Parts: sequence; structure tokens; C-alpha cells
Amino acid sequence: MTEEFAALYVVPTPLGNLADLTRRAEEVLRSVPWVAAEDTRHSAPLLKQIGARARTIPAHQHNEHEAAARIIEKLQGGEAVALISDAGTPGISDPGARIVAAVRAAGCRIIPLPGPCAATTALSGSGLVDAHFFFYGFLPSKGGQRRQAINDLRNYPCALIFYEAPHRILATVADLAAGLGERTLVIARELTKCFESLHSCPLSEALTWLQGDPNRQRGEFVLIVSGAAPGADDGEAERVLSLLLGDGLPVKQAARLAAQITGAARNALYDRALALKA
Ligand code: SAM
Repeated sequence: MTEEFAALYVVPTPLGNLADLTRRAEEVLRSVPWVAAEDTRHSAPLLKQIGARARTIPAHQHNEHEAAARIIEKLQGGEAVALISDAGTPGISDPGARIVAAVRAAGCRIIPLPGPCAATTALSGSGLVDAHFFFYGFLPSKGGQRRQAINDLRNYPCALIFYEAPHRILATVADLAAGLGERTLVIARELTKCFESLHSCPLSEALTWLQGDPNRQRGEFVLIVSGAAPGADDGEAERVLSLLLGDGLPVKQAARLAAQITGAARNALYDRALALKA
């Protein structure tokens, strides 16, 4: 049925639990003649398990241009192609977006399927009540760039969603706490897998919690930080800071209180307080 169209099907695959492959995804993967996969060896067991006999086209971050050309050739020849990544939704912190763009530019049909995605899975179980969210994906791996990126997000009045790898989880959580001030952090680990856990705590307590047990630092992570409090913009934070300094509070205390009151980043307020004092 679905495979009768010579379209590019964008097919999400499970994050860990094979039962999360949707019936429609299975049907498409079983019926298309071609599957473009981020890592053909990684995806082979999944394709075998569902009885898919499609031939594969490698489509990873280093060959998206050539992969797109091959895919367009198949589509223009009347054959359907399914695009998958190693896990979750292609194009979401994964290769795929450039292929979709090229296929679209070539005027071929694209049919995206709904399905597993770590960001939305974590968000749905987060218990955060922000009306909006901002998906960032992976923060920069270098400390300075990461802190700058976090600083740029500090006034966003929406939940912030990050992906993180285990070897950077402590550094990233420390930088989030220093850069964003008083917030709630949800740490979603190993979603859909055996050791799945969702932990919610004040951002300022998260590092200690993670350090409390090495197992809490293992696996794959989604981090969700609640949004800046309404009015937590620079102007409001500066106004509160000035009032507190005017009342004679020491710089450190004024910055801490202003951060708590407005949701602005304590570090930035501390620097600003020093400047105001000077
Ligand atoms: N395309 C995928 C999606 O739709 O979510 C994301 C791929 S990205 C290369 C991999 C990152 O996604 C991991 O480092 C982790 O941050 C997050 N992730 C993937 N699977 C996860 C899981 N089972 N639990 C928590 N986070 C996961």
C-alpha cells in the first residue's frame, strides 16, 4: 500500500526497545526496495528481524551529498526509498536533513512517518509544565563554547532540551547550573531500555546527585531544563540587582538573590554587579 509511491519515506526507528517500531514503519521498511541507512551494519539486525530484504545505501554525515544523489536517482526511476538513522528520527541530531532538502529540491515526494524521538519521549515524561520548548540537541563539546551557548539561552522562557553523551554529562550539568541559575532539571537516561530512569531535581543539586552513583552517569541522556521565569530578562534582572546593591548587599549575595528572584544567570549577574560597583 504505502510503498506504491516512489517517495522518500523518513522512518524513525526504536531508541532501544524494538517494540517501539510502529506498524507503519515496519510495513514501509519491509516493502521498499531501498533503505538509506546511517550505518548499514548497525541497522542490519533490525531489518533482518522484520524480514526486510531491501538493498541498502549508506547515508551518513560524511556522504549526505552523494547519498542524496543516489536516492534521487532511485526516486526518479520510480523506486521508493526509506531513510533511517541508527536510532530515533532521522534529521534530529542525526544525518538526514540535507538528504531531505536535496530530495525536496529535486521535486520528489517526501513522506515523513511519526515515531521514536528521544527529545519528545523525555519531554512527555518530564512533568515540566512549560507551554513551549526549545530543542537544542548537543551543546558544543569545548567548555568555552558550551558556556557561551548556554549563556545565549539563559532568557528563553521555554523548556530547553539537550542531548548529551556520558563522558560529558558532569561538565555539561555543571555549566548548565552555573549559567542558568535556579531551574528544574530533568535527567532522562536510557529511555525505553532496561535501566531507564527519569530524575527531576533543582538544577543546583543535579551535579551532586549524578556524582552520588557512577551508574547515574552511564548511558544516553536527554537533559531538560525548565524555562527562564517570566520577566527574567536582562532589564528586570539588572533592576533587581541595582536595588539590592543600593541597599548595601555584598556583590555575591546581591547576584545570588537577583538570580533567584528573576531566574537570570547568577554568573552573569555577578559580573554585572562587579561592573556596577566599579
Ligand atoms: N535521532 C535521535 C532522536 O530522534 O532522538 C537522536 C540521535 S543522537 C545521535 C543520539 C543522542 O540522542 C544520544 O546521545 C542521547 O543524547 C539521545 N538519546 C538517544 N537515545 C536515547 C535514549 N534511549 N535515552 C536517552 N537519550 C537518548
